[in-house]
This record gives sequence, structure tokens and C-alpha cells, in this order.
Amino acid sequence: MTRTKPVATTTFKAEPGKATKSVTAPRVLLVIGIHREELAFGKAVGAMVNAEDVAVLTIPEGISGRHPRADQLFQYERLHQRLYTQLLSHVEGHYMALIDLHSGEDQNGPKADLFCADKSLREQLEQRIREDASLLDRRVRLIPLGAPGLLHAVTVIPEAIWNNSDFRYIGVEIYLPETKAGRIASCHLANYLIGIVADCFRDEPVQL
Ligand SMILES: [Zn+2]
Repeated sequence: MTRTKPVATTTFKAEPGKATKSVTAPRVLLVIGIHREELAFGKAVGAMVNAEDVAVLTIPEGISGRHPRADQLFQYERLHQRLYTQLLSHVEGHYMALIDLHSGEDQNGPKADLFCADKSLREQLEQRIREDASLLDRRVRLIPLGAPGLLHAVTVIPEAIWNNSDFRYIGVEIYLPETKAGRIASCHLANYLIGIVADCFRDEPVQL
């Protein structure tokens, strides 16, 4: 059953990741819980990320990520537009990149798809992932945004989010198996990929 409760308009606040004490301002914002069924996974990953590099923004009451019935499609799109539009003020002028974490199911997981419209960032990520020995056994795909979207949320994300000259958008979708061990491995994979994204911004001069 899909609830059509409006998205809470309460302000949400980004917090540094919990893993380490922050000594520098993070350049990357990780948003978790856009889809409420994926919030628990997002929280588990958010607790792992390096606070020096990544701040975490929790959406306490996200939208249902289940695909809506045809008659609810308009409402579904509108809720996404509204929620993502609220994110803009949290990112613009504060962070160089926005990572939007999602999760799906796959018994052959963990696997990951990374979605990004920026070609040079995509190439950088592709190279880092290809050269990373610990990712050889994982299936990580880089998917350009702008072409018809594949991420289940992508088609409903406003272009101001994924194609913004102020910051880069990276959608991360992790496909998890249902087992406990699989979930733990998926959290580690998500955290690892977030670290790779953050690395791309560590050495860049701040342009806020
Ligand atoms: Zn999702």
C-alpha cells in the first residue's frame, strides 16, 4: 500500500558522520532516507562514513520508494520534486558534492550503481574503481545521468539537483541480498564507495 502523506516540511539538519571527530569541514553531503524504506540501511552507512570528508543529512520521513500505481504517479513525482527541492539550500554554497544513497534488493549482491551527470567526475570515479584491488570482485557500474534514468528515483529528481553548476550529484544505489552477512557487506561497500567519491574532492580547491 502506498501512503500519500505529504513530505514533512520540517527542517532537517546535516550532521558530521559519527566515525571520527571532524577536524576539517566536510566537502561532501550524504543524504539518507529520501525513500523511507531505505532509511535503516542509510543510517547504518551514515554511522560508518568518515566525518572529516562527509556530512550526513537524514530525512526523517521520506517518500515511499515503491513504484506507485499509475493513478498515483503524479503525486509521487510531485513529492519527490518537493523533497529534492528542499535539499538545494542544504547543498548550494555548503558542499561540493551531494551523494544520494538508495538501496534495492538483489540476492546476488552486494552490487552498486553510481549515477552522475558530470563526465569528468564519472571518468575519475571509473578509473579509481577499476584500479582498486578490493573492488575487483564487486560489480560497480557507472551510469551517466541525462540519458533516460535507470535509478528508480532518477526520473523524478529535478534537474537542478543532478545538473547544478554549484555542486555535483552522485546517486548511489546499493543492491543488497537479504542475509545479515550480505547487509553488512553492503554497508561496507556503500561506505567504501562514498570514500572514493569523497577522495575526488579532497584535493580540489574549495570553490563555494
Ligand atoms: Zn530509493
